[in-house]
Amino acid sequence: MGIFHPAWIEVDVARFQKNLSVVRKKMTSRLLCVAIKANAYGHGLLRMGKIASESGADYLGVACLQEAIVLRESGLQLPILVLGALHEEWIDSLLHHEVDLSVSSLYKAKLVAARCEALGKKARVHLEIDTGMQRTGVRLESAPMLLQFLQSHSCFDVVGIYSHLATADQKNHPFTKKQIDLFRSFKEQVGSSSIIWHLANSGGCFFYPESHFDMVRVGLACYGYLPDGTIDPTDGIAPCLSLKAKISYFKVVAAGEGIGYGHSYRTKRQTRIITVPVGHGDGYRRALSNKGAVLLGGTRHPIVGAICMDQCMVDVGRAEAHVGDEVTLIGKQGNEEISLQEVCNLADTIPYEFLSALPERLPRVYRN
Ligand SMILES: *Cc1c(COP(=O)(O)O)cnc(C)c1O
Repeated sequence: MGIFHPAWIEVDVARFQKNLSVVRKKMTSRLLCVAIKANAYGHGLLRMGKIASESGADYLGVACLQEAIVLRESGLQLPILVLGALHEEWIDSLLHHEVDLSVSSLYKAKLVAARCEALGKKARVHLEIDTGMQRTGVRLESAPMLLQFLQSHSCFDVVGIYSHLATADQKNHPFTKKQIDLFRSFKEQVGSSSIIWHLANSGGCFFYPESHFDMVRVGLACYGYLPDGTIDPTDGIAPCLSLKAKISYFKVVAAGEGIGYGHSYRTKRQTRIITVPVGHGDGYRRALSNKGAVLLGGTRHPIVGAICMDQCMVDVGRAEAHVGDEVTLIGKQGNEEISLQEVCNLADTIPYEFLSALPERLPRVYRN
């Protein structure tokens, strides 16, 4: 164990593994790419990368070079794909670490070719085509020419062709159907080959089976959340992350006292106030001031006053509380649960944002 810290994230490893097998059952594709960018959606990059690779992931998806290096330097052998735009400054290192790169312009393809020649290396590339996200990806009209360029240079190993869905978090969205059709017709135009075709994210995986092709790239659902914010018990995925802390202070406060910055809460009667060492510096957003709650002894108690950077206060009323007792800010305790979705609704955000904002200083504890 590292240095003690009074607040932490707990990851239920078995639950994560179960989610992966639920995703696998949903898939009609052969391959699963688990997205572990942004510190594995806050769950911890290296550990989750290892668990995913030992639990049937075929590919890992990252956003940037640093993430790829962390995985490779720990000895992880699985194919890794850097999703999205390629930066010139990354090329040498990506080639050295044998990371798959996305190519979506002739300009970048030429840069990669030049570096391959200089270093005597081959590049494993995925051609990214844009079917309507308007983020990265070569436009469809230019895709055949770029593919032709990649296939005619021996330094490239064209491993995959992919695109990204813009509206798959909603069921039956006509635009998703349009993107799937565009992707399929490009595939038919290119013809059969050994290329891995991939389009689906979590929304595609769960809501659009016709988007699966050869591989799905799933992040959020592996961590236990559906992208439309619903919980469908038949889906069988469930969150594997909890946010917990130890009470750092206890006091009895008289009626009529203001609590915290700006005194945004005032006690109505004499009550017991605990201090919890979690604040907006821990990703526990300030918008949760006077709205959030914690579980203590299996009972819900309201957060009162403004969330500070490193702490927040909770009115536990007459409940018994001691310094060092465990509270749960996200997750289950006894029969009670504070879901991440509930917290996100209160803070006007979504699980994607909340999870990726969970900072390094919160230790990740992995339980089986
Ligand atoms: C992040 C990302 C994914 C995974 O998205 P989820 O909605 O979390 O499943 C898939 N593909 C690309 C290109 C991404 O950037």
